[in-house]
Amino acid sequence: MIAIASVEVGSMAKPGAPRVEMRCQDPARRIGNFQEVALGYSREEAGLEAARCLRCKRPRCVNGCPVEVPVPDFIAAICAGDLEGALKSIKSTNSLPAICGRVCPQENQCEGECILNARGNPIAIGRLERFVADWFLARMDGSAAGRSVPADSGHKVACIGGGPASLTAAGYLAARGVTAHVFEALHDVGGVLIYGIPEFRLPKEGVVQKELAALRGLGVEFYPNWVGGKTVTIRNLFDQGYEAVFVGVGAGLPKFFDVPGENLNGVLSANEYLTRVNLGRAYAFPAYDTPVFPGRKVTVYGAGNVAMDAARSALRMGADSVRIVYRRTRAEMPARREELEHALEEGVLLEELTAPVHFLGDAQGNLSGVRLQIMELGEPDSSGRRSPRPRAGVFAELETDLAIIALGTAANRVLLEATPELRLNRRGYIEVDENSQTSIPGVYAGGDIVTGAATVIMAMGAGRNAAKAIARRLRLE
Ligand code: FAD
Ligand code: SF4
Repeated sequence: MIAIASVEVGSMAKPGAPRVEMRCQDPARRIGNFQEVALGYSREEAGLEAARCLRCKRPRCVNGCPVEVPVPDFIAAICAGDLEGALKSIKSTNSLPAICGRVCPQENQCEGECILNARGNPIAIGRLERFVADWFLARMDGSAAGRSVPADSGHKVACIGGGPASLTAAGYLAARGVTAHVFEALHDVGGVLIYGIPEFRLPKEGVVQKELAALRGLGVEFYPNWVGGKTVTIRNLFDQGYEAVFVGVGAGLPKFFDVPGENLNGVLSANEYLTRVNLGRAYAFPAYDTPVFPGRKVTVYGAGNVAMDAARSALRMGADSVRIVYRRTRAEMPARREELEHALEEGVLLEELTAPVHFLGDAQGNLSGVRLQIMELGEPDSSGRRSPRPRAGVFAELETDLAIIALGTAANRVLLEATPELRLNRRGYIEVDENSQTSIPGVYAGGDIVTGAATVIMAMGAGRNAAKAIARRLRLE
């Protein structure tokens, strides 16, 4: 057992005591680097925060977690100084805790349900999860901590796509002795964790690669540069002896406004921009010979987490100004509050109640500006948010040489078109039953390719649900 300063459970529980805040890099400094912004808890800070937990008899936080991490148990283990026990507890349902502790929208999940929310003071469950996971990643160098490698069951399963849904499915099955192979189209495995979420929110070497190493330690094998539907088909995989296939190819096809000028040089989807910066390591140019046009006056369209990631990346890439262009107001922005606050602290500007109607170019076909329709808020729509409507005849122009469009994504069609037997829903995503099985027996699916763009933990929950069904199919459970 690795000991931390032991805190007797409940002895310091003060529901009214404030949450222990997490230290962050200073905004003025951090916009000059891509290092992680949030610095994590020290062991003393973790002990103090853990001691605030009431260990409720009917813990609502557990129900709020899509994979039902036994929150009070792992927090009690932290209080007792038993970090190994805390990790085991978390890993009993969550195979990627260092990632979830950083990127999950806890305020809408476990922390949103915590009873101390009534006092505006929920336990910082995500930060504690991150603390436990980081402690082990730092000491065990990504070994399969908290797990033991089981005997070979003789079964073989393929997972197409290397994002959190497939990684979770593969990890679950490998832990039961199944040979689990992950086939990924890109040259690196991890999905959005690698190509989308920036280094300053989710370090790749320090966190994602170590979590991947832990999966390798369990026996999961990764095959990058394999495009499902092109390099290999689902039928080929069954012919090669795989007994089940999990499809976790995400929803990576960017949406655009479909307004004039969107094909000018300097207009990019957020997916392309972030992939170039993260996966192509454009931020480390010239050490990596894959630069991206950094932009001087950058505009970002959309107001979710993806827009915040793009805007904050553009600042770090050296832009003079970065503006979020949004057709509603700050109050309606879907981004996590923390991400929006970090963006504003760093100097990202908001252009509320504006929507692009025309991207403007110079004689060489390069973006030079954007014409904006000025909007106003009307009645609430079905989502409860006040819907924007154009103010007749009121327009504005903004100078911009890099426009990053973060409007959302749809299903990528490559695998779907190669597999016409896969039944899709009206929105173009794969239809599954309650066991995550598709219309093809033995083929399961989960994550964004089923739900549309969602969250890491939802994808992991779906991967786990499918893996359980596959394990039952193989008579392992
Ligand atoms: P993905 O992560 O998209 O992985 C799918 C993988 O499949 C990709 O690697 C892709 O290359 C591969 N693939 C696609 N087609 C094929 C094929 N034919 N053959 C082989 N491989 C294929 N969620 C949060 O919870 N918190 C956040 O803070 C957050 N921030 C985000 C920031 C950005 C910029 C983006 C884009 C998303 C963010 N999300 C966040 C959403 C979250 O990342 C996704 O919901 C989650 O990654 C979905 O997991 P997945 O496994 O279904 O798909
Ligand atoms: Fe602790 Fe809050 Fe969960 Fe109760 S609801 S056990 S106080 S984290």
